[in-house]
Amino acid sequence: MVLPLDSLINTVSSRIIASADELTALDSAIGDADHGLNMKRGFEAVLADRAKIAALPLPDALKAIGTTLVMKVGGASGPLYGTLFLTLAKELPANPTVADAARALAAAVDAVKARGKSDVGAKTMLDVLSPLAALLASGNATFANVTSSVDGWAEATVPMKAVRGRASFLGDRSIGHMDPGARSSAIMVRAISDVLEGTA
Ligand code: ADP
Ligand code: MG
Repeated sequence: MVLPLDSLINTVSSRIIASADELTALDSAIGDADHGLNMKRGFEAVLADRAKIAALPLPDALKAIGTTLVMKVGGASGPLYGTLFLTLAKELPANPTVADAARALAAAVDAVKARGKSDVGAKTMLDVLSPLAALLASGNATFANVTSSVDGWAEATVPMKAVRGRASFLGDRSIGHMDPGARSSAIMVRAISDVLEGTA
């Protein structure tokens, strides 16, 4: 399908920017209180280039977004989200099918795992991205089951003990808080789903 790139960039960026305080509050509980600011800085830069990026073929647009996130977000999440988008850029054709999206997201999740030496269950963004990849791969993905599941995936990080990233320094004290990167991933996934469904 031909993706509505302009709306996708606008909605994902706007929702991340609007969620900066929430993301910072989550990161202040188990990190260093910068995730909201990091993500806001990155997506403000993406939004500033919106017209230019939206005019590109999908792989080039994803490459531009990934490069901007690497340069602007910083922290642990910048290189990891950068890896996610840059891998999608390599794997997706200009007009992807759902099967293309499933295959590309699986590759992108593997690349994030490798880059962060991490996996599901470590209380990170992967606890949202990996179940999404699995749902897409199952062939049963609908907008309804993505949007009804995604907040639950982020919520499921609350009882987890962080074993990767800054939150892992807290050991057992990381238990009982939602992972900020899982939450930012959930916000992006819901935004993409809403735009593609036409309800954003
Ligand atoms: P920093 O931890 O450097 O302050 P951020 O606050 O921007 O960076 O991002 C923190 C988020 O990054 C975490 O909530 C987690 O989801 C994600 N993260 C950190 N380390 C890893 C890792 N090794 N693998 C996957 N995700 C990670
Ligand atoms: Mg942080």
